[in-house]
Amino acid sequence: MTIAIVAAMHEELAALLAQMPDEQRVRVAGRDFWVGHLQGQPVVAVLSRIGKVAAALTATVLLERFQAQAIVFTGVAGGLAPGVRVGDVVVATRLLQHDLDASPIFPKYEVPLTGHARFAADTAISDALAAVAAGVLADTVGLLGQKAVEDFGLAAPAVHRGLLVSGDRFVSSAAESSALRNDLPDALAVEMEGAAVAQVCHDFGVPFAAVRTISDRADDAAHGDFTRFVSVVASRYSLALIDGWLATLPPPDEQDEAT
Ligand code: SAH
Repeated sequence: MTIAIVAAMHEELAALLAQMPDEQRVRVAGRDFWVGHLQGQPVVAVLSRIGKVAAALTATVLLERFQAQAIVFTGVAGGLAPGVRVGDVVVATRLLQHDLDASPIFPKYEVPLTGHARFAADTAISDALAAVAAGVLADTVGLLGQKAVEDFGLAAPAVHRGLLVSGDRFVSSAAESSALRNDLPDALAVEMEGAAVAQVCHDFGVPFAAVRTISDRADDAAHGDFTRFVSVVASRYSLALIDGWLATLPPPDEQDEAT
């Protein structure tokens, strides 16, 4: 089975692409789809670009053109819930588009004609990602070095599971993030792609999961935190999380026998 690994920005996927020994580049719709192997598993890795439409297009190409049988989104997000700090990891259980509102015709946040506002992530993949994340976060010094851990205050990072919200907006003011917290009190973090990919995967009946490292607190300091964090930390986190998860899967020949 081919697993698709998607991130929005180059820095989020750079370390992972460097680990794919045999990748072939296939260019579709201006994006490079890297087809190859990681941990012996067939994968296709791609940068979706930023935002919901870019992510939905990329997901559709992955499913229709590359026959991806699961999509995992990785990258960074802004922390919303009080205990979700820079350097923590969020594994989504459900995903919602916080900027979608067709009320009063449909309830706020509901994707018209689907009956859903909150799209579920695949439980088995998400459980496995959360377990790997706990192991990765237990040794941030080993992964990033002492200096980066001190600079970013990553001494005791945590894994959180719950609602991830997406919208076409980089949330970078305290006013915006507190408005989101009021409207969606159980939202752990905010980003710009995940819920769009969850909707596409739901329509195709393909499992989806999202794992995001918190790069900022979606407040007035978000931009400064974000730029530094993504370039120093995010890429290595994404590699460790995805590589660690792929290593837990049975080898491809055993998967074939099981089906
Ligand atoms: N390149 C721009 C901003 C990128 S947009 C810059 O340097 O400022 C932010 C990207 O990271 C998106 O892909 C989004 O999914 C994620 N993200 C991280 N923090 C976010 C936040 N506070 N609000 C929205 N998206 C965020």
